[in-house]
Amino acid sequence: MTGALSPERRRRDLEEVAGSLVDVVVVGGGVTGAGVALDAAARGLSVVLLERTDLAAGTSRWSSKLVHGGLRYLAHGEIGLARESARERAVLMGTTAPHLVRRLPFLIPDAAGRDVSALGAVGGRLGDLVRLSVAGGRGSLPSTRRVDADEVGRLVPAVRPGRGGVVFWDGQLSDDVRLVVALVRTAAAQGARVLTGATVTAVDRTSTAALGSAEVHADVDGEALTLRARAVVNAAGVWASRLAPGIRLVPSRGSHLVLRADRLGSPSAALTVPLPGSRSRYVFALPQADGLVYLGITDEPVEGPVPDDDAQPSDAEVQQLLETVNQVLAEPLTRADLVGAYAGYRPLVLPESAGTGPGDATADLSRKHLLSWDGPVLTVVGGKLTTYRAMAEETVDAVVARLGGAARSTTARLPLIGAAPRPALDALPAPARLVARYGTDAPLVEELGPDVVVAGRPETVGELRFAVRAEGARTVADLLDRRTRFGLVPEDRARAVPVAEQVLAEEL
Ligand SMILES: Cc1cc2nc3c(=O)[nH]c(=O)nc-3n(C[C@H](O)[C@H](O)[C@H](O)COP(=O)(O)OP(=O)(O)OC[C@H]3O[C@@H](n4cnc5c(N)ncnc54)[C@H](O)[C@@H]3O)c2cc1C
Repeated sequence: MTGALSPERRRRDLEEVAGSLVDVVVVGGGVTGAGVALDAAARGLSVVLLERTDLAAGTSRWSSKLVHGGLRYLAHGEIGLARESARERAVLMGTTAPHLVRRLPFLIPDAAGRDVSALGAVGGRLGDLVRLSVAGGRGSLPSTRRVDADEVGRLVPAVRPGRGGVVFWDGQLSDDVRLVVALVRTAAAQGARVLTGATVTAVDRTSTAALGSAEVHADVDGEALTLRARAVVNAAGVWASRLAPGIRLVPSRGSHLVLRADRLGSPSAALTVPLPGSRSRYVFALPQADGLVYLGITDEPVEGPVPDDDAQPSDAEVQQLLETVNQVLAEPLTRADLVGAYAGYRPLVLPESAGTGPGDATADLSRKHLLSWDGPVLTVVGGKLTTYRAMAEETVDAVVARLGGAARSTTARLPLIGAAPRPALDALPAPARLVARYGTDAPLVEELGPDVVVAGRPETVGELRFAVRAEGARTVADLLDRRTRFGLVPEDRARAVPVAEQVLAEEL
């Protein structure tokens, strides 16, 4: 199977990588590192991706799972950034990952205030104009429009009845982890070597000048691994400053709550309510394909060094999210309605770390991502999941310029593994839910075991087997917290553990 991250492939990659010299070592298997590994491998560079835990173990799995056109950037007058987001959304929806991104209507109900929905309509129409101005934007999404009270009731039945609203459209990922896994498998299909469970402990910068390469030291399952790289891309997210101490990050925590969709009347649109006092920050109730709704998002500064452990929403954040959405609901949500919660750290960059001279670093703070060389190490940090491809292209352009090549990025036209045009996806002999997660691999996943892992949840045993055979899963957490998202509902996760253990015992 193309790009299969099987246990055998990992063993082979580990053997071949030890002591070797490669063009690029990428540190970090989140969306940024995965995108860089793919861009570099597709240009013909030799690439090794080292990830300390598992694919998408960091921030990339705690996002709102939106591929968004950047309405918030428009609110701040950042047209260039909004255009980049809209362009990348069109690339994902039209070419590289149509299987993973669906169109999602966002409802701003008049119940939030008529001035709020009127402002939302203006923003939505501006967003439509931006969409129409980028390649592939026309026809990718419906246009913003007003809806009447009946339609509000159909879209989000839990909203206080009797009033209309405004609907705009954006893109939603079936799951952020699925994007990262598809990227890494596609990179592997292009020749990238991939090692999870591989923590980069040091890059020896002193050796660079003499040999034209740097020594990279890693710990793989408790054993030391050393290899040489002509360039090292540090894509370690909020942990990037450990390898590049000059980079100063100001991480903030973003939290979501998880509830059963029926508590909001099984909505088909995302409910959108502004945070009290803000005109550009919203709380979204985002319906998922698996019968859950994620309610987010917050933005809380984090003091001190970012811990390795997952973030947790604070009590105040839970309160803020519930109070905001309750403003428009007929029957308020309470903490008793919550079946889970999650939080992640945003890798935000501090201006002073942008470097000292021209050519030394490029930082565009409005885009919130930074590219900065320190010897052989190029740090890329910040940005958004939506714009990972553009960031990766810029990063590998900088690497190629340093290494002295001319190869150009091909990723805007390179479909990820599982991608196919919509009619071909619709014709696949597999359940729509699997197609939205695995694309053209869905029939294979279905064949591996159509039985559900636990009653009341849609995930199948075939998904767990496929995760081990083709997606690099090695532990129960890989299976339940990343390849599938049982972990978002702790009670369901606990029930799934014995099945995951059984699958690992049989497959490894
Ligand atoms: C709450 C929240 C919601 C968001 N929602 C959206 C959204 O809806 N849409 C959108 O476009 N963007 C969204 N974002 C932004 C987006 O999620 C992030 O910009 C993106 O995921 C960052 O990816 P990354 O690869 O840079 O970092 P990460 O995903 O954190 O990846 C870094 C990786 O590096 C690994 N690592 C660290 N140190 C080492 C080491 N020494 N050796 C090897 N590996 C190492 C880590 O294990 C980790 O896997 C959201 C962010 C947050 C916090």
